Amino acid sequence: MRDIKQLHPQLQLKIAELQLLCKKKGLNIGIGECLRTVAEQDALYAQGRTKPGLKVTNARGSTYSSQHQWGLACDFYRNDGKGAFYDSDGFFTKVGKLAKSIGLGWGGDWKSPVDKPHLYLPQWGSTTSALRSAYGTPDKFMRTWDNTILNYKIGGTYRTTKPCYLRLSPAGKKLDYKDAPDYIKAKSTKQSGKVSFKKGATFVLMEVAEKNGNYWGRMKTGYWVPLRYKSALRAIICK
Ligand SMILES: [Zn+2]
Repeated sequence: MRDIKQLHPQLQLKIAELQLLCKKKGLNIGIGECLRTVAEQDALYAQGRTKPGLKVTNARGSTYSSQHQWGLACDFYRNDGKGAFYDSDGFFTKVGKLAKSIGLGWGGDWKSPVDKPHLYLPQWGSTTSALRSAYGTPDKFMRTWDNTILNYKIGGTYRTTKPCYLRLSPAGKKLDYKDAPDYIKAKSTKQSGKVSFKKGATFVLMEVAEKNGNYWGRMKTGYWVPLRYKSALRAIICK
């Protein structure tokens, strides 16, 4: 199925981020296969075995061994008119590198089969064995998904619910007061050390990123603020 909305919410955010990044670099991608049912996986497994074609997967449907069945993977294709899988100019490797730069896993790094269109969330490993032992079936895993993250509005104005440190990247280094521009300094509770954004400080949300279960927002100014930290909301949208 080509429905991005059936994928893990973190993967949905990563795909949106990757599409922006690819656009900036002049790489036009489309998203193809997303979540796959048991029957769909079995049909793919048959290809190159009991049905004609090249082998495209080592995963049988009933074993839940494809990341697609867990909503953790999608395949991209080329969308610039040169052919969906035309790769003589290294297109797929370029996109794979960008995907890895934002924390996605890439099937182009696999050995058997090499799967250049395949992107996945790597938190659970490059196979599904950890998922199978922890959850058994994809259904059970999907019940643990937190879709609230998808409610964040890119371009919306948010305000902080507590003082919080600004960072140079999601969960990365804190911003030093001395390095901050004046309009950021004006919103800090302290005038030395690290910038601590006041409670109620407003910002425009440009991007959302997840790291270790916490959610971070990139402001227009490029710095990152916590949106949700240890399950507590740290920023809410202004009415
Ligand atoms: Zn795939």
